[in-house]
Amino acid sequence: MADSASSETEKQDGKSKKIYCANCAHCKLVRNSQEDGNHYTLRVRCEAGKWVKKLGGEKYYKYFTVARRSIEECDSYEPMGDEKEFLRELKKTLPIKDEVYSISDL
Ligand code: SF4
Repeated sequence: MADSASSETEKQDGKSKKIYCANCAHCKLVRNSQEDGNHYTLRVRCEAGKWVKKLGGEKYYKYFTVARRSIEECDSYEPMGDEKEFLRELKKTLPIKDEVYSISDL
């Protein structure tokens, strides 16, 4: 009930609320192996297949940019909780650049 009430408020304001993919159950963190086989970087993908390249094929984004991934509407959005709180905590833990991790660190 709280959710429908808040969406009505948003619509009455005439503004459409952005959806942040980071707060969606379909936004998945994956490892991107490096050529040397000993290192990897982190990427995010949309498990629902909504992120596609202009010329076709699935698009992955660098993990450190995940908080910026937003979309106006998505029929597959599955929120995982309070978006504001989640994004605040996520931003505290995100790396500031594309880090390279060593498999031996695991
Ligand atoms: S399903 Fe939609 S909201 Fe969820 S990650 Fe994919 S594009 Fe974003």
